[in-house]
Amino acid sequence: MTGNLTPRKLLETMSQSVGEAGIPSPLVTGTDPFNVLVGTVISLRTRDAVTEVVTERVLSSLPNPDKMSVASEAELASLLRPAGFFNRKAVQLKKIAGILLDKHKGSVPSDRSELEALPGVGGKTAAYVLSMAFGIPAICVDVHVHRISNRLGLIHTGTPSESEEALKLFFPKELWIPLNHVFVRFGQRQCLPLGPLCSSCPFKGWCSYAD
Ligand code: SF4
Repeated sequence: MTGNLTPRKLLETMSQSVGEAGIPSPLVTGTDPFNVLVGTVISLRTRDAVTEVVTERVLSSLPNPDKMSVASEAELASLLRPAGFFNRKAVQLKKIAGILLDKHKGSVPSDRSELEALPGVGGKTAAYVLSMAFGIPAICVDVHVHRISNRLGLIHTGTPSESEEALKLFFPKELWIPLNHVFVRFGQRQCLPLGPLCSSCPFKGWCSYAD
């Protein structure tokens, strides 16, 4: 149930309610896929501000798979600190760089199953890389997307991978790429994980979670 809103109107309303002009165009397509992949691995369990600083530091020192694959895990870990699980990510990024060189001629694959075969890369990261680096429609389901779409009653799912499949049926393909950006902003400013601001929410009249 979405009141009388179409999926597009729902996304537009969500975007406008947190001060954005509307649904953004696909954001980062054209960006170096290696940079997107490294940044996305770093972002897991890490705040946005830390991700930004750490990703820039790692990529300034180790800007390609050749350099990353020969860096020591200790060097990578020291560049990655204070990102969450920096020791584990150091191991993963070094292995990823090696696999890219051995199996993909030093490039990031644009195939979902090949992406998900890389260490530390799950469905969320693969979808983000496909959509943001290659412009291939995919829904990146993070905690915000999973929480908000279930609160709103758009879907009724228990896991992010179930949510991805259900949301693909709800939203038309042309909205898959910008969806994550809109939901994340809405989740950070309106539909907060704890204490969502329902009284000022444009969906409070029909949202299944609102008081
Ligand atoms: S009404 Fe509340 S729970 Fe529902 S989407 Fe808005 S902020 Fe989130």
